[in-house]
Amino acid sequence: MTISPDIQSIVDAIRARQRFVLSSHSRPDGDSIGSQLAMAYALKAMGKEVVAINADAAPPPLLAFPGVPEIRIAPEATGAFDAAIIMECGDLARTGVKGLERYFVINIDHHPGNTGYGQINWFDDSAAACGEMVYDVVGALGVPLSLEIATHVYLAILTDTGSFHYSNITPRTFTIAGECIAAGVDPVLVARNVYDSNNMGRLKLFGAVLSAMQIDQTGRIAIVYLDHEMARASGGTYEDTEGLINLPLTVKEIQAVVFFKEQEGDTYRVSMRSKGEIDIGAIAKEFGGGGHKNAAGCTVTGPIDALQKSFVEKIERAIDCEPSPISG
Ligand code: 5GP
Ligand code: MN
Repeated sequence: MTISPDIQSIVDAIRARQRFVLSSHSRPDGDSIGSQLAMAYALKAMGKEVVAINADAAPPPLLAFPGVPEIRIAPEATGAFDAAIIMECGDLARTGVKGLERYFVINIDHHPGNTGYGQINWFDDSAAACGEMVYDVVGALGVPLSLEIATHVYLAILTDTGSFHYSNITPRTFTIAGECIAAGVDPVLVARNVYDSNNMGRLKLFGAVLSAMQIDQTGRIAIVYLDHEMARASGGTYEDTEGLINLPLTVKEIQAVVFFKEQEGDTYRVSMRSKGEIDIGAIAKEFGGGGHKNAAGCTVTGPIDALQKSFVEKIERAIDCEPSPISG
């Protein structure tokens, strides 16, 4: 394989160092965990010392994957490390882990707008998952694709493409996924662990949130809402909402979804998803958040009615800027 200068500089930096701390974004998902642990297993195979630290625990379904229960959950990285490898984070604050800037930082990411916070920065927003990029680094390091590494690369790709559903999927995505299967990954088992490990509270919570769903006047935007009382009444938790936001998009006419989750008082976590060319990442950015064209988020404060109106208006405008995917 040809090795790009970006990857070569990462390989050289890793070879020259011994003790690594690996981190990824807060509220982890399959791509952050998969990227982080694929890298961890590769470095261990090279005889390196590796500690993985995250701000938050992994969602329960991901605890079934190798190494996930061993990830250290801590607000700060302390100790002697020769480098910090940060994956899947547009800026260092996305880790939610303090103190990482004290180390030699290697930044590997696919989020548009990555701030280039590392001593080495490799950024590729054409990658369908950060796990694709980690796969390239593992190969360039000359580390064989073990079952653990392959499992985490496959987990990253499966989840970040929404089960091969979203944009940015390329022939490479399938080539890498194919290599992972060849290395022994069982795609049925991975999918079952990720998607078929729900508890009943989660299903009831989905029901409550979807029953209360609103549709905008144009019939193209779904507005979903969750507060602490709804979660308590259905027997689910906020962590159980993972993936819920994608369900309204399964309706043919729905082009975008905005999901408001009450935090404290008037503050809401906002998640958005869209289809095709509708850029909701730009809207999240206007509100101080960020993300991708089709998946983005931010945190906002204000009366919920005014917030919903404001987001819906902006999303309607974003949809009107794009040709209908159905016509043409
Ligand atoms: P989610 O809706 O799953 O929380 O986030 C979807 C995507 O939006 C994430 O992968 C991340 O890239 C981005 N995102 C979500 N919240 C924020 C935020 O507060 N700030 C930034 N910069 N990106 C976010
Ligand atoms: Mn990702």
